[in-house]
Amino acid sequence: MKVGIDLGTTYSAVARYDTKNSKPVIIPNAFGKEITPSVICFLDDGDILVGEDAKDMQSNGTGVNAAAFKRNMGDGSIAVSFNGKDYTSEDLSAMLLKHLIQDAERATGEKVDEAVITVPAYFNDFQRTATIRAGESCGVKVPKIINEPTAAAISYGYKHSNDKTLMVYDLGGGTFDVTIVRISKGNIEVIGTDGNHILGGKDWDAAIVKYVCDQFIDEYDVDPRDDLPTKNELIVAAEGYKKTLSIAESVTIPINYEGYSAKYTLTRDEFESMTEHLLEATKEVCLNLMGDLGLAWTDIDEILLVGGSTRMPAVARFLRDLTGREVIAHSDTDLAVAKGAAIVSELYNSKATGLRAEMTVIDVTAHSLGALSVSPDGSKFVNEIIIKKNSKVPCTASRQFTIKKGNMTDRIEVYTLQGESRMPLDCNVLAKVVITGFYNNGQGLNVDIEYNYDQNGVVNIAAYQDGEPLTVEAQPIDEDIRWMGGSPKNRRSDECILKNIAICVDLSRSMDGEPIERAKASIRDFVNTLQNDDTYFSLIGFGDKIKVVQDLSNDPRAVLASIDELKVKMVGRGTDASPLDTARSMLGSKPGVGIIVVLTDGIWGKRDRAVEQAIGCRNDNITIIAVGLGEADTSFLRQIATVDDGALFTTIDRLGDTFGTIATAISSGSMGLSVREGGTGLAVRQSTRMQSRE
Ligand code: AMP
Repeated sequence: MKVGIDLGTTYSAVARYDTKNSKPVIIPNAFGKEITPSVICFLDDGDILVGEDAKDMQSNGTGVNAAAFKRNMGDGSIAVSFNGKDYTSEDLSAMLLKHLIQDAERATGEKVDEAVITVPAYFNDFQRTATIRAGESCGVKVPKIINEPTAAAISYGYKHSNDKTLMVYDLGGGTFDVTIVRISKGNIEVIGTDGNHILGGKDWDAAIVKYVCDQFIDEYDVDPRDDLPTKNELIVAAEGYKKTLSIAESVTIPINYEGYSAKYTLTRDEFESMTEHLLEATKEVCLNLMGDLGLAWTDIDEILLVGGSTRMPAVARFLRDLTGREVIAHSDTDLAVAKGAAIVSELYNSKATGLRAEMTVIDVTAHSLGALSVSPDGSKFVNEIIIKKNSKVPCTASRQFTIKKGNMTDRIEVYTLQGESRMPLDCNVLAKVVITGFYNNGQGLNVDIEYNYDQNGVVNIAAYQDGEPLTVEAQPIDEDIRWMGGSPKNRRSDECILKNIAICVDLSRSMDGEPIERAKASIRDFVNTLQNDDTYFSLIGFGDKIKVVQDLSNDPRAVLASIDELKVKMVGRGTDASPLDTARSMLGSKPGVGIIVVLTDGIWGKRDRAVEQAIGCRNDNITIIAVGLGEADTSFLRQIATVDDGALFTTIDRLGDTFGTIATAISSGSMGLSVREGGTGLAVRQSTRMQSRE
């Protein structure tokens, strides 16, 4: 049996094409339901529940839950650790797919051997290949993955014979996509797509949770979100209240926590106004796409609403106001994507029926594909776009690269990038391949490199010399790719010296209240002053224990958000732990400058050990700057500071100024900072970098 699977962020569905009645039909799950929650629950007794059962557990707050894992598909990060085993989003998706397939087999009595799986249109190469792997690991063939909005347009358009141009506005549980599709006599041609993959119904749920908790904190000074099971229950309940607000004018939300009870009423008007910015965020994506494609609203005949979140009445109203076009809700919003996938599974069925002859589907790629190259003036690395976003897939483009006379290299390194920016580090570095096997007699030669998006939007690379294929071997991408943000020529130029700054904050009891709040404000200003692409910050809290609140990152939003998280109770109440070892191992292996800024207001328990650690840092060329408040031990801080004037004593009122002084010293280089080997972050490469002929 061939099926289409809508592998959704919050819910999934399975459909098949009923050739007798020439239409796609949903295969219900074991509970007789058409959609299955995309939730997995790990129970203490070792059992793993998937779907409905897992969702029940989620609302009971029992077990370890994994939900919305599709948001991290393909990034290799650990989504859940349980009983000593780590699970990535790909592993969890494989478990969910297996469950969906087993349910479909039980319901039909037939074995599933092929599945067309849907993905958000903007999924990149990692996310697409991870989805295919997850499907194949369940023992089924995945002949095709298809973009969700395309699938929805297919299920809407396959019966419509009128020519029309549709905008598919797909607001799901965790993702948003907008796609422009032309339908003519059953042919579906996607002409452009864009999206925001971290925006969806969950953000509307979160707005309700915040509304309730903010009031609860005002009233009782406790935050129900501090308790994980309570927080999970609230998130699940918020989704229910949100749905109620799609049909009712207001809801009353009861909440009980730590012996306190409250009831809050939320009206639809209030809900709509506190979530207006979320709809505005979708507008930005729509306008960008229209602009890129050179379309006006008058070019669009209809707007097709897809995804559960478009049931919120505000969505259609907002789109009508924005576009002035007809806005139509898909008759079965939740099922349209799975049904579209089922139609495609029939198209890709080797024993196809009449459908294959009647219908064609042309899709596009949501991301530009480029190669790392050197800018014409040789001053920086750039992403040279080779296949543009919104090109029809499959598609292939070639570039010729030249190895100059006198260069005897026998290998070419090619980095492929996915993204729109000219700056390599703003893109996803997809792959590194090494091309060998070309004939080089030192007289100069050309190698043709072929970049291809296959019909699934997956990237392939081939290379040729005089039409003969060369060896192309994938290699692991360097762990530290920050050199791509620097200059190829001027490897030691000052302007791109990487800085890694670990900020260590004393969270012992005495910091409670004003000291910690002032410290947070000062650190925020410090980060804002120093932030740029070449500066990475981490945040480490210490007390009785050490907590890495933020790993090294040059994303100021992430760093600023982690500063907000700092709380005095995070690491116990005393001062027994020293953060220097943690910071040293974090900074030790990184090229560039390593700086530790320690803020403390007390006397540390194990000072001798800390001094030893500081000596280790000094040996690793890591600079320690110590800021002392209140009771801080003057001579100890002087011992751990590794530069002259590196111990600064201040008061709460002057803390901001002190951090300002440190920021100035760091940015002007007046603090005697040592730059380690590879200081610019530009590793020396032996092989030839691609030089475009253009
Ligand atoms: P999808 O990913 O398309 O299955 O959409 C799931 C999202 O739609 C979830 O965030 C649901 O909470 C949301 N949703 C489903 N029904 C409604 C409704 N009646 N009103 C508001 N949101 C809804």
